[in-house]
Amino acid sequence: MRKILVSGCLYGWHCRYDAVDCPCTDPLFLKWKQEGRLVPVCPETFGGLQTPRPDAQRVAEKVMTESGKDVTAEYQKGAHEALRLAKENDAAFAIMKEDSPSCGSKYIFDGTFTDTKKAGQGCAAQLLRDAGFPVMDEDELQQAQKTLCRLEANE
Ligand code: SF4
Repeated sequence: MRKILVSGCLYGWHCRYDAVDCPCTDPLFLKWKQEGRLVPVCPETFGGLQTPRPDAQRVAEKVMTESGKDVTAEYQKGAHEALRLAKENDAAFAIMKEDSPSCGSKYIFDGTFTDTKKAGQGCAAQLLRDAGFPVMDEDELQQAQKTLCRLEANE
């Protein structure tokens, strides 16, 4: 049975920066959870940050809070932990929370703290993709299911 790396907040952990929970309740996601396929990771808390924590955004190669604190090291540490878990579990792919500076896979906030998004990816999503793990978000579960069926049919 192939494993799927998932964002901890989608899995149901209380780990979002603003302490507002956002568990994924899609029946397919819950079925995978029941099957024991899901490997949760929260790159930001695994990187040593607390919940709640200051909002942070990618600014060029760094990750900064709105007050100007550089939290790049924590974000990178968490991203490497996500990659370690993906490798250790031979994850088929990852399903990561959209728009996050760690987990976002299509869009992220643009670093101006004006609620403006731009095309881009979070630190963990980028590291996973660079290592060859496909990254999707919670709106792409049907596509993920097709990928899973194809992979398992070929095994
Ligand atoms: S770092 Fe990822 S898993 Fe953790 S709260 Fe943010 S979006 Fe969710």
